[in-house]
Amino acid sequence: MPNNTLCVLPFNTLSIGQSGHQRLCCNALNGGLSDSDMPAPVTFRKDLKWQHGVAIEKVRSTMLVGNKPTQCERCWKLEDIGAESYRQINNTYRFPATYEKLLQGDATVKLERLELDFGNKCNLACRMCHPYSSSLLAQEINKDPTNAYTQVDMEFLEKTSWVKRSRLFDVVREQGHDLKSVYIIGGEPLIMDEQEEFLDLLIELDFAKNISLEYNSNITTIGSKWYDKWSHFKEVNLNASIDGVEEYYEYVRWPAKWDKIYSNLQELKYWSNQRPNNKTCIHTTLSNLTMPSMKKVADILVGELDFNIFVINVDHPTCMRPEVLPDSVRASIALDAAEHINSKFGEHYALSNMVKSLEKIAALPSPSEQDQQDFIKRMKFMDRHRKQNLLDLHPWFKEWYDVYQ
Ligand code: SF4
Repeated sequence: MPNNTLCVLPFNTLSIGQSGHQRLCCNALNGGLSDSDMPAPVTFRKDLKWQHGVAIEKVRSTMLVGNKPTQCERCWKLEDIGAESYRQINNTYRFPATYEKLLQGDATVKLERLELDFGNKCNLACRMCHPYSSSLLAQEINKDPTNAYTQVDMEFLEKTSWVKRSRLFDVVREQGHDLKSVYIIGGEPLIMDEQEEFLDLLIELDFAKNISLEYNSNITTIGSKWYDKWSHFKEVNLNASIDGVEEYYEYVRWPAKWDKIYSNLQELKYWSNQRPNNKTCIHTTLSNLTMPSMKKVADILVGELDFNIFVINVDHPTCMRPEVLPDSVRASIALDAAEHINSKFGEHYALSNMVKSLEKIAALPSPSEQDQQDFIKRMKFMDRHRKQNLLDLHPWFKEWYDVYQ
């Protein structure tokens, strides 16, 4: 069997997006099953054979004959430049035994991993987020749709989560015996009833002890209820979304408060130290709003609190990419942060990659007028509704602020 096209996920994973649409995996382009053979959303499915269907079987066949499905382009691109792809992470670390069987020609389909976007319910309205991932952002846009930077279909968003309108729990009861890994995404999963009921189901069925649970969470609502439930699982990996620190954090991740988040981070540090199988990793974005605080991100989150960190360069919306800064300051802010981080954390793997990104950003050409305009429109709209002001923290945007509405 070819080893450079095979991926375990189309054979062992059910990945469901926010509105109940099935995906190849959470990394595939547009979900990966969006052609004419796409399965119906799981809310319409009466059967429990969610891992079967024309679209996913085509992907499996393509891989098995040694071809690379185009919808997996993100993985192929990373591998082409020598970086580790989502495919390689899953084949090598999460499911080495399943991968070995695939290489031996055993293409059995079974359920070992769930990737579940439980919906868009969220108590934060982060500036780079999308209303389909944050109900608070959707409500803000819906208050003033004429002036908003994007539109939302509130009727669609107000439907209850797909979880309760589908047979997910029946699928898990019937096919979940081999589950090893569950990845939960939101919105904010820790404020969703469905998420709690789902954990209770895994505990009640006695599947939890075999499962590595992974979350993306804004960690605003952690606490003993969750630590008790999580103690039933084999391990828990919490990806804490923290963008910038202090006042930069509060501007991006409105209306969260940094002091509360800082004390929650200390609590999570204690929780992680209680059991080797509890892990917290900081997921932090590098955007045009967080770049000025990257020195402190490294100093506080890595230097002081000693967390693992994973840095994500914002790609969408394009107007919030890190390079969307006026020419007058882009290189100096990027290189100042790069120099500081390099001198203090030169050997740190994730931070040394951030330094490389910052050095590249410093040399990029001016952002397009469209991105400048989209950025200012988005910030002004949010500032009006939140009683904040972009220029208080980022005065260099004045040259665009006065030009665009
Ligand atoms: S190759 Fe990559 S995109 Fe395709 S299913 Fe595997 S992890 Fe997902």
